[in-house]
Amino acid sequence: MSEFDLIRRYFTRATPNTVLGIGDDAALVRINGDMKLAISTDMLVSGTHFFADADPYMLGHKTLAVNLSDMAAMGAQPRWVTLAAALPTVDEAWLAQFSAGFFALADEYQVELIGGDTTRGPLTLCVTILGEVPHGAALRREGAQIGDDIWVSGRLGDAALALAHMQGHIHLAEKEFAACAPALHQPSPRVALGLALRGVAHSVIDISDGLLADLGHILQCSNVGAEIQFDMLPISDVMRTLSRAIVHPSPLGGGVGGEGGFDLLPALAQRCILSGGDDYELCFTVPEAQRPRIEKISTQLNLPLTRIGVIVPGSGCRVLSTDGSIISIQEAGYDHFR
Ligand code: ADP
Ligand code: MG
Repeated sequence: MSEFDLIRRYFTRATPNTVLGIGDDAALVRINGDMKLAISTDMLVSGTHFFADADPYMLGHKTLAVNLSDMAAMGAQPRWVTLAAALPTVDEAWLAQFSAGFFALADEYQVELIGGDTTRGPLTLCVTILGEVPHGAALRREGAQIGDDIWVSGRLGDAALALAHMQGHIHLAEKEFAACAPALHQPSPRVALGLALRGVAHSVIDISDGLLADLGHILQCSNVGAEIQFDMLPISDVMRTLSRAIVHPSPLGGGVGGEGGFDLLPALAQRCILSGGDDYELCFTVPEAQRPRIEKISTQLNLPLTRIGVIVPGSGCRVLSTDGSIISIQEAGYDHFR
């Protein structure tokens, strides 16, 4: 199969919202004069971002989802994408599944694939996404203000937990893994939430590198600090079971801050919740007066939105436990993810 047959068969679809799609030297799109173009690129490299034998349908989904998530975090309406793919071989079964997963999500969000590049090489998938946002409406990392509530969507840490299982750092029961795996393999980009937060949120970021890292970007860009309550962080039932010993005395002894130091599972859970990557939830700050508005958005979108803390003067993020003591984040000596 030639390169052009491959592009035609697996990546060319009707693009009614595009002036000129795949097939020429560049695509042409028409943008509304009142809009700004939001542009972002995310690359997934085999062995770094996914396992070489990853399910191609889910990989197609994720390749697009991580890019849609960046549009969500800007409050932009995603419109068009390009896809640059380096493929080690032409594996038609793989391509069929990959493009099916990619286009299923593209259809869901009415995003059109309008171009790209295809070469032979180590499996790498790079999407550039273009979205529209009205002048002055983009949601930025800067803009968090002292006193703002800090919110997150969905649940935290399941993607990292599923990864820890796949890497053999922990063993989850089949049912537990099944509950966590979709967060890792088929994240739901929070596009509708991003749009609903226009004019409401002071600052927004999507959580791709873990809550503390990404909230840290908001804090740095906004020149403020944060206090978050560990017990308020939204987590799944599976994660709750693993992390129970953090909040309550562990039946095995120990627990965070306790004399016995960290139990392995609660420490892993805590690490997933606070520092786990690949969640693709939104973290955002909103003035306290807007709480009812956020609760309404949560109901309308049928998406859990959880208030986890507050923006304070200073810099950096303090994580507090129920009794008000500061949870120290164990970085050194605990490295399940490398
Ligand atoms: P050029 O030689 O000008 O770079 P190509 O031969 O690489 O063009 O691509 C031909 C057409 O197919 C272009 O419109 C390009 O955008 C599109 N294209 C190439 N690879 C992909 C892909 N993986 N997905 C979508 N469109 C692609
Ligand atoms: Mg080319």
